[in-house]
Amino acid sequence: MFVSDLRHFLDLPDDVPGPARRMAERLTAIVRAATAGDAGAEWATAFPCDRRPGRRPCLGHIAVLRTEVPPAIEWRRTACGDEGVISGWEQSPYDLRPRLARPQSADARRVVIPADTAATLRDLQLLDSDTERLVFRAQALEEGVALFGDDDDIDELVGYVAAEANHEGNRRRQGRLDAAFEVLSRAIDGQQRP
Ligand SMILES: [Zn+2]
Repeated sequence: MFVSDLRHFLDLPDDVPGPARRMAERLTAIVRAATAGDAGAEWATAFPCDRRPGRRPCLGHIAVLRTEVPPAIEWRRTACGDEGVISGWEQSPYDLRPRLARPQSADARRVVIPADTAATLRDLQLLDSDTERLVFRAQALEEGVALFGDDDDIDELVGYVAAEANHEGNRRRQGRLDAAFEVLSRAIDGQQRP
């Protein structure tokens, strides 16, 4: 069981060693997912496991369980079984719990995208908080990654991808964003109602 206090990983100096930086990225991603999704039941995030058993990438994901009272986040590697708890995340920049409960939308959608598209979406830089929650509460499925949102959420996300692709100076990253835009547009056409 890994016990981590997120506060020890915030505002790391620029010269911090790679493993500590990767650990910080991992913990902040788990906190963003756990606080973007619903509390009270464990669910599998879209974050792939970072283990390489037998030098092959583990095909598992990181599952999270957040409780409201007291506020707590537990995580678990779905395939290889490690688990941990994170403390010190409340009111951090990665605490995505909404300030106000959103009314349930009548036009809820489930849009399934490939895992690498989901990774590109998690890398978007300028999301508003509703869209950031949409990206980070995405769930791992057998067939890919499911985004859960309503029509406005999904349209907004596509808009952010397009805007960021238009302003991206790095051609490789622009290519990834363009591909994500294509995939999202196609996925929306073939969308499923949950
Ligand atoms: Zn694993």
